[in-house]
Amino acid sequence: MQAAPVQAIPATAPEPTAPAVPDQLGRPLRDLRLSVIDQCNFRCTYCMPKSRFGRDYPFLTPAQRLSDDELLRLVRAFVGLGVEKVRLTGGEPLLRKGIESLVERIAALRTGDGRQVEVAMTTNGSLLARKARALRDAGLGRVTVSLDSLDDGIFRAMNDVDFPVGRVLEGIEAACAAGLAPVKVNCVVERGTNDGQVLPLVEHFRGSGVTLRFIEYMDVEGPSGWSPSRVVPSDELRGRVGRAHALLPLARRAGDTASNFLLADGSLKLGFISSVSHPFCGDCTRARVSVDGRLHLCLFATRSVDLRQHLGAARPEQDLAEAIRQAWQARGDRYSELRAGLRAETLASGKRQYPTVRMSLVGG
Ligand code: SAM
Ligand code: SF4
Ligand code: SF4
Repeated sequence: MQAAPVQAIPATAPEPTAPAVPDQLGRPLRDLRLSVIDQCNFRCTYCMPKSRFGRDYPFLTPAQRLSDDELLRLVRAFVGLGVEKVRLTGGEPLLRKGIESLVERIAALRTGDGRQVEVAMTTNGSLLARKARALRDAGLGRVTVSLDSLDDGIFRAMNDVDFPVGRVLEGIEAACAAGLAPVKVNCVVERGTNDGQVLPLVEHFRGSGVTLRFIEYMDVEGPSGWSPSRVVPSDELRGRVGRAHALLPLARRAGDTASNFLLADGSLKLGFISSVSHPFCGDCTRARVSVDGRLHLCLFATRSVDLRQHLGAARPEQDLAEAIRQAWQARGDRYSELRAGLRAETLASGKRQYPTVRMSLVGG
């Protein structure tokens, strides 16, 4: 990777301007994760295992997916309620036809005080090498690429479609070259599968300008093999990296899902996302909308709010904003914090009794 300086993040995030809509726990609505497609060209074993997402899986049809106009109408309503950052996700967002033009239209929106809406994307990187420049030109600000291994055999086995790791690495390089900075790389760590890749990933990305983040393996809908023993807690991972490199803690920004560290020589910023071992519900300022137009107030909520009924061209935009505001104000979800207890009971009973999420629909 090309060398680029790594900069420490400032201790505080810039103050938001629009008055925030608080939920029941005082958490402001600040970010939107918008899933633009539920299909994917990978079958990551921890997300969309082939046994569940086979050829006959009933993915949403194009007619069931929100159109670009409807997605834009939605984003405009969220921005009016104080949202400043929109992350496009999926499924695999780069599979959506005309994604560049959708990015361009969202990036053209302005917040109440005239600032550009920040547009980011989470992608598996498979199509990024050829799309990075056009996405940047369309107004995409930042990109997060999922990469679970540098070892080609492990990578192919985890994506389960025999996709070579080299093509994703080319995508990451293209994103860096296009200035989609800071590029983040997310690695879901599964004990016994890819936890041996943690240190090689650290070495690979030192000096690259990329931020590398390790995510604890969560029990989501689909994969059947989850158990606590497959999770490598962030504290353990940090210990492993810390024995090889001195780590300096960085201040946590409001709404940040990761605990961040800098290698003491400044060569790499590292994040640890501890959804299982140290849930961060208290900081969760994120609304999620799936491409069928449903608002999910929590990754693990069993109920969602149908926004599609408010999206017709003839419907007043105010109704849509009001529906979102009311749903957010009623929000009290904090499932990750509650799940530790539920999991223990469930594991003891042998039956899964708590809500799980279809990651590829809600978008992570
Ligand atoms: N396809 C894109 C990608 O993989 O980056 C975007 C959608 S994917 C559902 C969003 C994020 O969810 C990815 O970073 C992925 O690693 C993460 N994810 C999926 N299943 C997970 C699981 N069981 N535990 C933790 N993270 C998971
Ligand atoms: Fe697809 Fe992303 Fe899920 Fe992997 S994690 S199967 S790339 S949606
Ligand atoms: Fe947010 Fe729900 Fe995840 Fe907690 S469990 S951090 S409330 S999405």
